[in-house]
Amino acid sequence: MPNVQGLSKAAANYRPASNPQFSCGQCKFMFPRLAFGGCRYVRGVIRRGDTCDEFKPRHNGEPNPPS
Ligand code: SF4
Repeated sequence: MPNVQGLSKAAANYRPASNPQFSCGQCKFMFPRLAFGGCRYVRGVIRRGDTCDEFKPRHNGEPNPPS
């Protein structure tokens, strides 16, 4: 696990998601889950339609990670 907000977008291989199922909007680390938000691990503005190598699917009923 990377440190909180310890990754640059380049290090995380942040990129547009080719599959919406594996995008930031479906990742447990994005908050808030709006069009633009933040990420627990990757620094900077996070777009819902992008993704990175740290993607983890969120599970139903699981609370947002602490921000
Ligand atoms: S896919 Fe990567 S950048 Fe997007 S919310 Fe998840 S960990 Fe953060």
